[in-house]
Amino acid sequence: VIGTVTSLPQTSISDTLFERAKKVIPGGVNSPVRAFRAVGGSPRFIERAEGAYLIDKDGHALIDYIGSWGPMILGHNHPAVREAISEALAGGTSFGAPNEREVELAELVTRLTKTEKVRFVSSGTEATMSALRLARGVTGRDLIVKFRGNYHGHADGLLVEAGSGLLTNAEHLGAGAPSSAGVPAAYAALTLVVEYNDPEGLDALMQLRGHEIAAVIFEPVVGNAGVLIPTPEFRAALHRVKSHGALLIADEVMTGFRLSLRGACGLLGLQSDLTCWGKIIGGGLPVGAYGGRAELMDFVSPQGPVYQAGTLSGNPLAMAAGLATLRELERDEGLYVRLETYTSALADGLRAAAGEAGVPLQVNQIGSMLTAFFGDGEVSRFAHAAQADTAAFAAWFRGLLERGVYWAPSQFESIFVSGAHGERELESTLSAARAAFALSRT
Ligand code: PLP
Repeated sequence: VIGTVTSLPQTSISDTLFERAKKVIPGGVNSPVRAFRAVGGSPRFIERAEGAYLIDKDGHALIDYIGSWGPMILGHNHPAVREAISEALAGGTSFGAPNEREVELAELVTRLTKTEKVRFVSSGTEATMSALRLARGVTGRDLIVKFRGNYHGHADGLLVEAGSGLLTNAEHLGAGAPSSAGVPAAYAALTLVVEYNDPEGLDALMQLRGHEIAAVIFEPVVGNAGVLIPTPEFRAALHRVKSHGALLIADEVMTGFRLSLRGACGLLGLQSDLTCWGKIIGGGLPVGAYGGRAELMDFVSPQGPVYQAGTLSGNPLAMAAGLATLRELERDEGLYVRLETYTSALADGLRAAAGEAGVPLQVNQIGSMLTAFFGDGEVSRFAHAAQADTAAFAAWFRGLLERGVYWAPSQFESIFVSGAHGERELESTLSAARAAFALSRT
């Protein structure tokens, strides 16, 4: 039964599972932010998911704003995706040999994104890691540039001043160090870091070291420091890096097919040399991809000298889920407008509710991505996001969860709205948010 929880929920089954999990899985989770360290309490274990809702093991229906961290843009258990997976399943689960669905998905992705060639991998991390190797192989240069608070997965060279769970769980790390223990200083030294939305900083670095830089990798809208939107001046500076012979790599793992069929780059008029995808491209199964012009992609093995491979790459079930999701996104022309309408109404409602409660709040929203930063003033750089009142956020988060709203358990994440979120979910969310703002003040 789907409905909003009105009284304080019992979570005994989730709590028991978490205790069991902690004995056999580090921190009890297979990805750090899921552990709720930044917000307190213990995570809910999920039994199943349907439309806009997660149903936890204790039987609570929760309005889901995480959407598996982005992939579930159509809502959970969408019939078209489920049927496509079932059909593929009937033919076997993995071949380790070419199959037609890979070709179909590659044709669809290249057509929708105006790319020439694409290579499928099994996660966003592999996509960015492989795109960087390709950029180094093409240019013969070693250095890369990334932006403070951007997250590109957990490859060694990218865990430098990284966002997402690295911000959430950063209490044990020293300033200026790689964002993780175990990353050799020699790797970190190949990654130069600039502030996001700082065109002068980027220009200055490129003037100084542009001839050594293989690639500049960036989130075209940041989700992993909370939502940050690139200014026109910063976008122009990004384009200028190409004049130094560096490749521009758009990490659209989060934004690809979420902000438009052509991703954030299509929406904002950005032209990258290489693009990385993940999340939505696999419709909830493990898929990542990287792509670009044929002259660049043909450096990838077996065509070219840059090695990259994967046992489960192009897996038929994963390809089927991705195909069904992207076909549905293309078919349902009004979807992106509906997502925007819902999410901007949510943003307005949150601003109003925070105002009434006297809670300083800055809401950044674009399309179906949104972060409510607890604090005053514009948030356009990582340094602004880092000033947010994380204790107030945590209290608000707990208030929401107790009322059946499953928000991202960190101040430094975007939430994601799906096509299954409607009027009823919006009303329930705003009513829970109003009550939770009162808690966040105390
Ligand atoms: N790049 C971006 C922008 C992401 O948001 C993420 C994951 O959140 C990744 C890369 C890594 O993707 P994955 O978790 O599939 O390895």
